[in-house]
Amino acid sequence: MTSTETVSDALGVLRRVFGYDSFRGEQEAIISHVVDGGDALVLMPTGGGKSLCYQIPSLVRDGVGVVISPLIALMQDQVDALRALGVRAGFLNSTQDHHQRREVEAAYLANELDLLYLAPERLRLESTAALLGRGKVALFAIDEAHCVSQWGHDFRPDYLGLSELHERWPDVPRIALTATATAATHAEIATRLNLGEAKHFVASFDRPNIQYRIVSKNSPQKQLLDLLRTEHAGDAGIVYCLSRNSVEKTAEFLVQNGIPAVPYHAGLDSRTRAANQARFLREDGLVVVATIAFGMGIDKPDVRFVAHLDLPKSVEGYYQETGRAGRDGLPSTAWLAYGLQDVVQQRKMIDTSEGDAAHRRRLGTHLDAMLALCETVECRRVQLLNYFGQQGEPCGNCDTCLTPPESWDGTIAAQKLLSTVYRLQSERRQKFGAGQVIDILLGKRTPKVGQHNHDELTVFGIGTELSESEWRGVVRQLLAQGLLAVEGDYGTLVLTEASGEVLGRRREVRFRREPKREPRAARAGR
Ligand code: ADP
Ligand code: ZN
Repeated sequence: MTSTETVSDALGVLRRVFGYDSFRGEQEAIISHVVDGGDALVLMPTGGGKSLCYQIPSLVRDGVGVVISPLIALMQDQVDALRALGVRAGFLNSTQDHHQRREVEAAYLANELDLLYLAPERLRLESTAALLGRGKVALFAIDEAHCVSQWGHDFRPDYLGLSELHERWPDVPRIALTATATAATHAEIATRLNLGEAKHFVASFDRPNIQYRIVSKNSPQKQLLDLLRTEHAGDAGIVYCLSRNSVEKTAEFLVQNGIPAVPYHAGLDSRTRAANQARFLREDGLVVVATIAFGMGIDKPDVRFVAHLDLPKSVEGYYQETGRAGRDGLPSTAWLAYGLQDVVQQRKMIDTSEGDAAHRRRLGTHLDAMLALCETVECRRVQLLNYFGQQGEPCGNCDTCLTPPESWDGTIAAQKLLSTVYRLQSERRQKFGAGQVIDILLGKRTPKVGQHNHDELTVFGIGTELSESEWRGVVRQLLAQGLLAVEGDYGTLVLTEASGEVLGRRREVRFRREPKREPRAARAGR
């Protein structure tokens, strides 16, 4: 087949089967490459249109397109949606009984399928491989390909076995797709999936209709409620919390305040989870409060906001989660509330996490990048794009563009705080967290201050020019800049090597001043 034929066939299928007029972005290039038998590695943000990149080649090429997907819960929906378009699709996974599987297998062997969705663990069964061998495979599509990365947040051991596809079916093209990828994950996918020869297609990661906002956390539930009432009344959205407990509490709080909300986390039984997810997809204006267990593969176009009440562990996670907003291209909000406690808690989780030192270092690097995004005084979007190795111009549609944060010379404040930490650290016997340090700076005669004679320290009361919340901001930003660290179960503050440069007046420190008012979404186009 020549390339011109490929393109006209593919375009015909796009129009006739899917009812769209034209390809988007790189879809056309990707599809013609795969139709011609080439391997491809596709990086495209959520909502970019990855599915058509393998669905159309499966229809154009001879044989059945085999799609490997970890999203078992969604296979039925995906297959139903395709069947509604007249595409002959089926799936094989552990939710089916023997009889249902038999039916799908027979359809495959009779070449009566265009697409077959498979859970990765099924492909590792010799019986499945033998079955595929008796029919004709048009291509292998490996969806959510970042699941092969052991360092990523969604690792699936079964994905490692997919590297063998090429040995068994050397002539069948493979297309791996993901919405998550730094250069490092990207390279790892290519290596682990044995895609050395694959052509790489990297789409822009910009999501211009999403307004990114990161605010400082005071009373998170109230801040959230305010956001929903003033800007997102009646809208569907997702609220992410770190713990199951805060998921439950936040969902309850929203319901009590008249906002329809349901919880979603791995501790709920699977029926409740499925029911809540189905309601979210079906109903207008429902809010799901969830842990990150929720959302992968969810295709709801009109999610108007994604709110984080706790700090995500990495920029990749943040980007994926916020990317679930606004798939329909309409203005949407990505809102994150973040505070000192987030930093303390996450550092502690890293310190106590399983895995070797290298693993912990990697988690630390992920967290540092996320903190840098939170504390930036530059455009959030530019910073996000840079993280993924892409360029951008200040967007005019994120909080830092709309209300440019001022920065201030915090060298003296930093010196005062670090010397207080130094004094406490040299006492050794006792470990103190941010609260005690700030009480000392403010000259508060609390029982705990009296008990340890901290009112006798030379630093007692030297920081009254800032408020308590400003000092918390100083601690948070020093932590984010690596000029201070936390240790142990109680979030003890300790100096780092770089602290010495500040104390020795060899380094200046600048802090971001929190804007007094949160910028509001531009309502144009709504
Ligand atoms: P992804 O898997 O990359 O998150 P999808 O494949 O689910 O994205 O596509 C996102 C949405 O965009 C879907 O509703 C899809 O039907 C739509 N879409 C994809 N390609 C096109 C196109 N060429 N023209 C119009 N709509 C498209
Ligand atoms: Zn911006």
